Amino acid sequence: MKLVFATNNPHKLQEIQHLLGDSIELLSLSDIHCYEDIPENQETIEGNAAEKSFYVFNKYGFNCFADDTGLEIEVLNGEPGVYSARYAGEEKSPQKNMDLVLQKLAKIKCRNARFKTVISLVIDGQEIQFEGIVNGQILEEKRGTTGFGYDPIFKPDESPLSFAEMSMEEKGKISHRGRAVQKLVEYLSQFSAE
Ligand code: IMP
Repeated sequence: MKLVFATNNPHKLQEIQHLLGDSIELLSLSDIHCYEDIPENQETIEGNAAEKSFYVFNKYGFNCFADDTGLEIEVLNGEPGVYSARYAGEEKSPQKNMDLVLQKLAKIKCRNARFKTVISLVIDGQEIQFEGIVNGQILEEKRGTTGFGYDPIFKPDESPLSFAEMSMEEKGKISHRGRAVQKLVEYLSQFSAE
């Protein structure tokens, strides 16, 4: 079975191909000659994931999945959420985004937050979504150097370490994306058995 992963991140593509094994042939956007920006104009993480997967299915005719992720901070009513990449501006600077979060949470005791990933899979025009959540805390300051995005200021409940103090393997076992991908892989295993 051929399946497009609607991402421009080669690292994500490689990681998921590894988890899926040989039964599913994963195609990148360049494999199907899709070079334009895929729209993500929705107000929710679910909506954005679906917009991306349906865009590829409708325009290119391939079964497809897409993911979307956001950091949701309790006292900020779920911000930055769908705006996570560009919270501090269109330049999408991870440092500026983290600084803005730390500034907004200065002197605030409740630092509960979670990462949420939604994967939208479209097969023959039918959509199914898989969600992965990791609960944790926003740290008082940045810690660690691995990972990306908000990793230095996020500490999952399962560990004393920030995401940026973990190896990729450690993070993948408990992360929002890791959990959503596990559900996707489990679901797709029915197609590999055929
Ligand atoms: P995307 O939907 O995977 O592109 O994620 C949107 C934004 O959420 C990214 O630009 C990051 O700012 C943030 N983000 C997503 N996943 C992670 C993660 O695993 N660690 C830290 N930040 C993340």
